[in-house]
Amino acid sequence: MPDIIIPYESALQHALKSADWAGLRHSSENTIQRSVRNDRPERNLSALEEGAMCEVLVGGHFGYAATADLSLGGLVRAFDRAIATTRATSAHKVHAFDVRQRPKANGSYCSARERDLDATSLVEVTDCLLAASQAMKLSDVLVNRSASAMMVQTQINFFSSNGSDVRQNFDMVDITLSATAAEGLESQTRSWSHTGQFGGEAFDRSRLVEWAGEIARQALALLHADNCPSARMDLILMPDQMMLQIHESIGHPLELDRILGDERNYAGWSFVKQQDFGRLQYGSALMNVSFDPTQTHELASYAFDDAGHHASKELLIANGVLVRGLGSLESQARSGLPGVANFRSSSWNRAPIDRMANINLESGSASLDELIGQVEQGVLMSTNRSWSIDDYRNKFQFGCEHGQLIENGRLGKIVRNPNYRDITVDFWNRLAGVGRDASAHGTVFCGKGEPSQVIRVGHSSPPCLFRDVEVFGGQA
Ligand SMILES: [Zn+2]
Repeated sequence: MPDIIIPYESALQHALKSADWAGLRHSSENTIQRSVRNDRPERNLSALEEGAMCEVLVGGHFGYAATADLSLGGLVRAFDRAIATTRATSAHKVHAFDVRQRPKANGSYCSARERDLDATSLVEVTDCLLAASQAMKLSDVLVNRSASAMMVQTQINFFSSNGSDVRQNFDMVDITLSATAAEGLESQTRSWSHTGQFGGEAFDRSRLVEWAGEIARQALALLHADNCPSARMDLILMPDQMMLQIHESIGHPLELDRILGDERNYAGWSFVKQQDFGRLQYGSALMNVSFDPTQTHELASYAFDDAGHHASKELLIANGVLVRGLGSLESQARSGLPGVANFRSSSWNRAPIDRMANINLESGSASLDELIGQVEQGVLMSTNRSWSIDDYRNKFQFGCEHGQLIENGRLGKIVRNPNYRDITVDFWNRLAGVGRDASAHGTVFCGKGEPSQVIRVGHSSPPCLFRDVEVFGGQA
């Protein structure tokens, strides 16, 4: 994607006549989607979004105005709008900010990839998806065999009146395969996804075909499996369910803007209080959770956030104790708590807010077989199917696509419709085993903010063992 330069210097100089600081974030994003269902191409979509967010500091208050008119006149008009609204609203500010919340930043970032998405043929992509759809055709009861891919190329350039110049380029791929087996009133779906910062190398036809066959076989097996039993038992979660568990019960409750109450009208509040940092035993001593945008290939890897804050790996939970929140330089100034470089916007026309990036559970030393060997009676669950968690991120109920019973240290029969429920801190304190083999997952649909912002986040985790959890079968 070309690195188009707009007349940012003149626009920033104009803004500085009235503002104490000015910043300009120019972003351009090209999205292509392809999907195939039951061996037929179903959807071809391509979209280009480009614009600039003009940001000012006036009277100790930050304010914004976005524009898709990237001429000097367009940028000047946006800055004038931002200055007028910021001046008017600064009388009602929640905190007196200064330029320390917008440090000077210089650098660039290019997401890890072997082959640019630009150099990847859409014929090749569709061919991979068709091959995956055909590989799921194992039986007539497999009524839905879908394969889809989203490819996103993003360029974000950030300039400021105190000398920031940051240019970041991302290639991202999200591939999802799904097989549904149905007979009578019963249906079962298995899915597989490969998502992260990759280029065209993500379209590995033989790997997609292999996984397509595997999830189709599992969907057929689930169709005739017994329901998961309902009882308290040990629970092993595979990384593709740990992703959701981390996202909902660690990521969201640790967002400092949420803890400060900013999100309570929409996304909700948090059971975590400001005084909990440094004190709360969030989980067992085996629990170490990091904020890590430096981990390559996850969905939210980057070098700088949208305030120009340089990103580094930080532990949020160390040996089970809550030590740090997901808060930008603004939230850190407001709360006096330690935070991270997580001030991110979903698009050129959105202001940055506190987000997750890559929130990862650090690996332990046990193989999956060793975790299973520690279980007398339990169940192993894979791949999230449904989720429900309260506004405070406290009480939750999650369902998975695939369950397999564990008896006396060995894997047993497959069970369908497995679910579990618990309270966040109680659940993480049940963590009794952490695997060594992590894999990265993520979501491109993390929603938050008013107006709404949907952003990409990554979560890497090994399989984990939890003792004595309330497990139940049925459609949750
Ligand atoms: Zn989310």
